[in-house]
Amino acid sequence: IKKIAVLTSGGDAPGMNACIRAVCLAAISVGADVIGYKYGYNGLLKQEYIPLDQYVVRNLLQRGGTILHSARCEKFKHPEQIELAAKHLEDINVDGLVVIGGDGSFRGAKKLQAVWDKPVIGVPGTIDNDITGTDYTVGYHTAIQTAVESLDKVRDTAEAFERIFVVDVMGREAGYIALNSAISAGADHVLLPETFTSAAEELVKILDKLDKRRKNRANKSHIIVITENLWPGGLNVLADSLQAESGVDVRILTLGHVQRGGSPVWQDRLLATKLGTYAVELIQQNEKGMMSAISHRLPAAIPLNDDTLTRKELNTYSMKIRDEITLLG
Ligand code: ADP
Repeated sequence: IKKIAVLTSGGDAPGMNACIRAVCLAAISVGADVIGYKYGYNGLLKQEYIPLDQYVVRNLLQRGGTILHSARCEKFKHPEQIELAAKHLEDINVDGLVVIGGDGSFRGAKKLQAVWDKPVIGVPGTIDNDITGTDYTVGYHTAIQTAVESLDKVRDTAEAFERIFVVDVMGREAGYIALNSAISAGADHVLLPETFTSAAEELVKILDKLDKRRKNRANKSHIIVITENLWPGGLNVLADSLQAESGVDVRILTLGHVQRGGSPVWQDRLLATKLGTYAVELIQQNEKGMMSAISHRLPAAIPLNDDTLTRKELNTYSMKIRDEITLLG
């Protein structure tokens, strides 16, 4: 192989830079040139790229964000645009493409693979950790760390004023960040898209949980973690109902995009480095339409098919802990 291309697409995640660096260094080590397409699939459609080498990727390991920029690209859903992307890759003799992104980006990668005969390899880069076939995704650990640090701080102020805090964390339609940050920060309750039933039922569950908690301790402060966009009508509706029913002051905190930023924690740096390097190995082996994944701590080639493009289920043991442990303490 003589030339490898890489791009970052969809929701950005800490560790994408570390992954670009790994792809670049691994490619150089096998004697290949490397280019980086800018703005996700948009760069591929406009033939807009930059050359990458060991100097460009210096000190990228610890830098948040992505030097290639990420973006959505609605146009890429049209078949003629996918053909154009394949033509652009051919025009400049690319031997393999690495797509760092989430499940949407992988859907695009799969379609591109269907019309291009060189390898397209996906690397799971998303804070949501919602991709089937890989134990973890690049960015997930850092997002959890950010959420946990915020939850710890919120607890201090919640306790001082004996308030209820409803903390909104990211995750799109997946509850991974909410579930595991809630457990890691010892939150009182967590609301997940995977188990959400209705506002009325969930409100009963929350009040019941808070009641039980209050019997165990004097302080009236509580922390409730919720996945973004989950409560019908928005969090103000939940806050108003909670305040009315409990008589305790309720505050809302939306963590938002801070969860996508910052220097990646070591788990994401290591994962990004392993998966980026393995993606280049897969291209060398002429493996097509694969995800460079991590499975039981080892790199694994997982086909990008309908099975892997479904949302990963939550960890059953974490769910058990959520239900049992949060009633104590
Ligand atoms: P993520 O990769 O983080 O899941 P999105 O779902 O927004 O983010 O997808 C990122 C990009 O991947 C889209 O803007 C589009 O360019 C491409 N993409 C998503 N779904 C498809 C699809 N079904 N067909 C082709 N391209 C797609």
